[in-house]
Amino acid sequence: MSEQVSFHDVMRWTDEECRAFLEGQRWPNGPICPKCGADKPYKVIRKAADKNKVRSFYKCRSCRKQFTATVGTIFEDSHIPLNKWFAAIYLMCASKKGVSAHQIHRMLGVAYRTAWFLCHRVREAMRESGGPLAGIIEADETYIGGKARRGHPVAYHERMQIDLEARGLNPLQHQRGKRHGRKDKAVVFGMMERGGRVRTQHVPNADASTLGPIMIRDIDVRNSRLITDGHRAYKMIGHNMQHDIINHELEYVRAGNIHTQGIENYWGLVKRGINGTWHHVGEPYLDQYLREFDYRFNRRKISDEERFAALFGQVAGRRVTWYCQTPQPENPYA
Ligand SMILES: [Zn+2]
Repeated sequence: MSEQVSFHDVMRWTDEECRAFLEGQRWPNGPICPKCGADKPYKVIRKAADKNKVRSFYKCRSCRKQFTATVGTIFEDSHIPLNKWFAAIYLMCASKKGVSAHQIHRMLGVAYRTAWFLCHRVREAMRESGGPLAGIIEADETYIGGKARRGHPVAYHERMQIDLEARGLNPLQHQRGKRHGRKDKAVVFGMMERGGRVRTQHVPNADASTLGPIMIRDIDVRNSRLITDGHRAYKMIGHNMQHDIINHELEYVRAGNIHTQGIENYWGLVKRGINGTWHHVGEPYLDQYLREFDYRFNRRKISDEERFAALFGQVAGRRVTWYCQTPQPENPYA
């Protein structure tokens, strides 16, 4: 279905029109029972328009279950009208650096908490499910976030010294870590096909034992050539696949187009988005934000309309319940 819809269309759609669009995207060949997979269900239309109920639903011929297009999707059990969902999805798909839950809350007139859960459900639908990466692949790691250092730098330094001594730690060793400013930052690892897809994830550390298995799992090693910087975590991967190293202490581009500027530019985009739009991303949610960036980047060559429509092919089977245990406290800057 190559229907072109603009943001204006979506804002004007009624619940019925949203449902029709969702059905068209989810079931291009007609409705299918989400429980047993049987096709050609009965369509039941309610006679009186009840405000709190959908006008029509389907009933499976085989298992007799009743269902609508939202069953088993990120929209299930939501009290937010579909057109608000659609508007939020549109904004998230179209804005280069992302939209914060606070913006969604203001623009769509929903509670902040509601907007926050809605954004996370949309990010769940944005999770990539493509095959292994292939071709020329740039891999790199970066460091995101970190607590803001409050107070005067010297006062901060003194507090840290006292704190470290109290904890019986060696301040010199701690300083060495601080010099890179990485102690309280989250490690993110990414791989990018030159001119193609990107895949990033939050990792516990940038060791060879962490990054190696990810590369072997996510890269078609026989048909790819890997390019990385001289970080020691990448040294061993040469045993598994063709590997070129660009030594950043000497040069940034080596003859033969050996560089990692694609992934490095991408880190710039992600960091501008995370720092500018969300102010601070809770570490448990970092992967979710990375999915959003990867989704948009991997569809950068298509229009906003197409990127919006494409998401509806991924809304089923992506119900999120994990965040219920760890809701983020209300943050007006988030
Ligand atoms: Zn059925």
